[in-house]
Amino acid sequence: MIRNRLLWRLYAGYVAIIVISTLVVDLWVVREVTKSSMLDVERSLAINCSLLEEISRDALRAHSERPDEPAAPATRAGGRNLQQTVTELGRRTGTRLTVIANDGLVLADSDELPARMDNHGQRPEVFEARQSGEATRIRFSRTLQKRMVYHALRVTHGGDVTGFVRVSLPYVRIDDKLAELRRLVLIGAGLAALAALVLGFYFAKRFSDPIIRMIAAAEAISQGDFGRQIPVSGDDEIGRLAEAVNRMGRSSAQRMAELTTDRNRLSKIFTGMVEGVIGVDVEQRIIHINQAAADLLGIQMNECLYKPIWTEVRADEIRSALTQALETQDVVRSQMRRSAASDDLVVDIAAATLRDEDGEPAGAVIVLHDISELAHLERVRRDFVANASHELKTPITAIQGLSETILDDEGMDRDTRQRFLERIHAQSLRLSTLISDLMTISRFEADEFEANLNRIDLAEVARRSVAEARPECVEKQLGLTLELPDHPVFIEADMQAISQLIDNLLDNAHHYTPSGGEIIVRLSTDSSHARLSIEDTGIGISPQYQQRIFERFYRVDKARSRGLGGTGLGLSIVKNIAEAHNGTVSVESQLGKGSTFTVTLPLAV
Ligand code: ADP
Repeated sequence: MIRNRLLWRLYAGYVAIIVISTLVVDLWVVREVTKSSMLDVERSLAINCSLLEEISRDALRAHSERPDEPAAPATRAGGRNLQQTVTELGRRTGTRLTVIANDGLVLADSDELPARMDNHGQRPEVFEARQSGEATRIRFSRTLQKRMVYHALRVTHGGDVTGFVRVSLPYVRIDDKLAELRRLVLIGAGLAALAALVLGFYFAKRFSDPIIRMIAAAEAISQGDFGRQIPVSGDDEIGRLAEAVNRMGRSSAQRMAELTTDRNRLSKIFTGMVEGVIGVDVEQRIIHINQAAADLLGIQMNECLYKPIWTEVRADEIRSALTQALETQDVVRSQMRRSAASDDLVVDIAAATLRDEDGEPAGAVIVLHDISELAHLERVRRDFVANASHELKTPITAIQGLSETILDDEGMDRDTRQRFLERIHAQSLRLSTLISDLMTISRFEADEFEANLNRIDLAEVARRSVAEARPECVEKQLGLTLELPDHPVFIEADMQAISQLIDNLLDNAHHYTPSGGEIIVRLSTDSSHARLSIEDTGIGISPQYQQRIFERFYRVDKARSRGLGGTGLGLSIVKNIAEAHNGTVSVESQLGKGSTFTVTLPLAV
């Protein structure tokens, strides 16, 4: 369609130029030819007039001297009278000749008898010739009843006008000649115009085709088809334009590739960021959001794009930080806290305005940093310090009180003093256990636990721990059974740490199982792991405490634990040791029935 429009517009203009110029040239040529033909006619009529003047000079003079006398005898010329001579000459020249006396009387006429002719003194050409000596007129002849071209010449003798000679031609003869000429000019011009129209179409097509190709290429480029190239023909302006369009396409392709690479790089960075990032425009519409932000806010990444942030994000803290940042043009920080069933969610919010090249606000960016873990660790640390201080203070206070009582009571009897000293000793032992447990914990805490890894037989370690625990169990009337596989169970481990792990679990089983109960230690293996379980028929742990007992200082029954000399750190140390060996610990328990603690450790390869 565009193709046709351009071609036909070009061609229409060209056709108009050809038609107008052909018409103008045609008219001009016809006019010039007519003019020159008329001049030729006039010239030949003038020559004939001069000839006729020669012939009729005497007759005219004679008539002017004796106007009443008949012309015939006086006008003899070459043996014939004037009328005959004029008739003969008219026949030979193919023109009409007329001799008119000064008084208008026609003395001779080649086509008509003078006697029949009226006075010609007032004929326009005669009238004009009287004034200016010579005149040409085209007019209707009343005598011959047709249009004629007349040329009249004034004849004088000795300064006096004696008459006029007039030569004329039927105008139709000139007209025919001119018509023929015009026809030839028209045919020539028509043929030339036809050739010009054919050539014009060819040139218009040659000119419009590359432009149309360029338009198609430019459109393709604008729609992203940067590979489109126009064939360049010649080094004229059109060729150079095609080359320029090609260059533009290539550089656009390059620029686009760079932009795409940049955008992909940025998008990868945003996607890979742990922090949530939301970009908004000045109208607070979301123009970018990464997965981390969507996850944190519990919204769908694709569904919220280009929608106002206040309809998509429910968190007031984020919206007010954003509004404040846009108003103050500053970085605004705040925090968002949500309490979930499992754990608290704490998110650090930073909102900052974005500016365009002119420094005008162009939107804002919000960075969300999930610091729940950090906040949790901080809380745990605070709790730990508070718990540790409290736990340390209890035996110290007891020691202080007991020792003060001994010091104050000089008369204290020996047995009481002995009992007091034993209690002081027990409290100091408790203090020592607490401090050593705390030190173990802090080594794990500071990542300072350097396992002294060796290939050890877990069955052997278990056997030794059980043997050590047996006297206490016997004393408390607890059954203690050890079930081992009939082969060694090798693990890569720190012997001392694994011993401590088994001791702590055996200690707990011993502590929380009433007399008459049963403790069974089992060791088994699968293809990759060793499973050590310590089962008791003790008091058990209700489900709501089963995960918490692995926390530091957590005790289901504080008084009971303290009474038994527990620190509340035993299971936490077990967990740390198991994890330091790439293992796990878990519990299965039923209140009042008993508990089974299971430790899984990878087998040595
Ligand atoms: P503690 O020094 O108090 O024993 P632990 O960290 O070893 O500290 O244990 C934490 C808590 O888990 C204990 O106070 C106790 O309430 C519970 N617990 C541990 N082992 C057992 C068990 N075998 N049977 C019942 N309760 C247990």
